[in-house]
Amino acid sequence: AIKAVKDGTIKFYPKRWTKVYLNWMENIRDWCISRQIWWGHRLPVYYCKSCQLSAVSCQQKAESREQKAENKKGIIVSKTKPDKCPICGSVDIYQDEDVLDTWFSSWLWPFATFGWPFQPSAVSHQPSADNKQKAESRKLKAELGYFYPTSVLITAPEIIFFWVARMIMAGFEFMGKEPFRDVYIHGTVRDIEGKKMSKSLGNIIDPLDIIAQYGTDALRFSLMSLTSVGQDVYLSEQKFELGRNFANKLWNASRFSLMNLDLKAWLGQEEAQPRPSGLLNTDLCLFFKKEKLELPERWILSRFYSMLQSLNKALDSYNFNQASGILYEFTWHEFCDWYLELAKPVLVDSPQLTVHSKKQKENTQIVLYKVLEKTLRCLHPFMPFITEEIWQKLIVGAGSEPAPTESIMTQPWPHIQKQMIDKKAEGAMRIAIEVITAIRNLKAQMKLTSAQSVKVSLLTKDKKSKKILEQVSKYIISLAKLEELNIGSEDILHKKGISAIAGNIQVFLELEGLIDIEKEIEKLNKEIEGLHKDVKAKETRLGNKEFIKKAPLEIVEKEKELLAAGKEKLTHLNKIIHELKK
Ligand SMILES: [Zn+2]
Repeated sequence: AIKAVKDGTIKFYPKRWTKVYLNWMENIRDWCISRQIWWGHRLPVYYCKSCQLSAVSCQQKAESREQKAENKKGIIVSKTKPDKCPICGSVDIYQDEDVLDTWFSSWLWPFATFGWPFQPSAVSHQPSADNKQKAESRKLKAELGYFYPTSVLITAPEIIFFWVARMIMAGFEFMGKEPFRDVYIHGTVRDIEGKKMSKSLGNIIDPLDIIAQYGTDALRFSLMSLTSVGQDVYLSEQKFELGRNFANKLWNASRFSLMNLDLKAWLGQEEAQPRPSGLLNTDLCLFFKKEKLELPERWILSRFYSMLQSLNKALDSYNFNQASGILYEFTWHEFCDWYLELAKPVLVDSPQLTVHSKKQKENTQIVLYKVLEKTLRCLHPFMPFITEEIWQKLIVGAGSEPAPTESIMTQPWPHIQKQMIDKKAEGAMRIAIEVITAIRNLKAQMKLTSAQSVKVSLLTKDKKSKKILEQVSKYIISLAKLEELNIGSEDILHKKGISAIAGNIQVFLELEGLIDIEKEIEKLNKEIEGLHKDVKAKETRLGNKEFIKKAPLEIVEKEKELLAAGKEKLTHLNKIIHELKK
């Protein structure tokens, strides 16, 4: 059992528990295996009353070595009850009433659960029952062969020796093989102050309350997000908001997708729109090879498969919180925030659709459907209920195989399609996203609404970036709501406006005609004045030794934080004024 862990046949996650295991195993101690409780395997130990009587009389004399041996007289260890005492021949024999320690029985768990050691029952002698029993025994043996050794054991650190080590010992002893390959040791759930949750402390959070308030999937997803490998979890109720918000986001995004997929039309239920043949059963690889997809489609497919790669890696190493983080980021901040936004204008129904835009719409729908369906499959183990609900709507609505009676639970995990990973498309979209984000931030700074149409110029010395900007300009115009976009024109440097940096690109937002610049400067000056006073006051307070001495530490810390934030804002406002005055 020591060798198996040392040579890596059995691995601990996190690794540090290997040391704890070996420390126990290399300093093994005696173990009291008898317990005085009602349930358990009774000790296979019998006593002969007459031998014991003679032994008791010996005890009254001084104890020599021979007498100690004499004391063991009358104790018989046997699988079955002996007919008579092997020493004196007496039949006055009784079994010890103690049972084996729970862990002594539990070490058999990996194989005893399959009916090992497959002994025929002594009760039945009928041949038909015999055959039935043999068949049953064969079935159990086959199951044992299939499930032993198993892949992973998940358990708590306090029973590494009690249970894990003993299962390994028993596995080698009785089966000649290790019982499992990986041992995942999970953390302890603590309250937000770090105290272990327990009923007696009264600091437990009842999962049923959380389910009622936030939802079952929210509970599950939040817990997975919080649990980093083998670390303790610090839990408070509000941490479940993360899972609830994510579930809502997924639900809304799916509803939007379902509304824009023309599933009915694909079913051919609407006579006016003939059903494109087997659209949803399209092999994504063939479709991808055949169609010249637009950048957003190439990007989201590439991102999905890149995400799947990292997800598989995280799951292989039992990094559940990393895995849920990867899914969260992709679903929320790539699929919902960007892909759906990019797809919206293409999905709009209009009588003016050209042949080209019809084809583009159909391609967008297929990619939207495929990415959503595959994402649901990845999310299913993390959020089983909501993913099943949405998946059923997608599949039933589309009328495609598999039949609607099937569950997402039985669907295969998506395969990596390396040919769809397109780092160029990812790079181009990254630039577009950075620029759009910069423009939105500039608008927010000037208190313009995000829908406000504006003129923007982009400047860069990098030729490659400039080329990419030209490629992605239509997405920037559409998502940042631009009236005009200039790329590489230096004219703007003479105009009034504010700018920001996105990578190696200068983003310039023109303000002439949009706001009254003089008034804006005046407003900013007032704001700066107020902020200045505030910062001064905080500096004085923090410079006061009495205050530092008397105030609670957290208040001092908070004050320091506010001061830093105030200073940062001052610098920022001064920069805007500087640009406006230019
Ligand atoms: Zn005896």
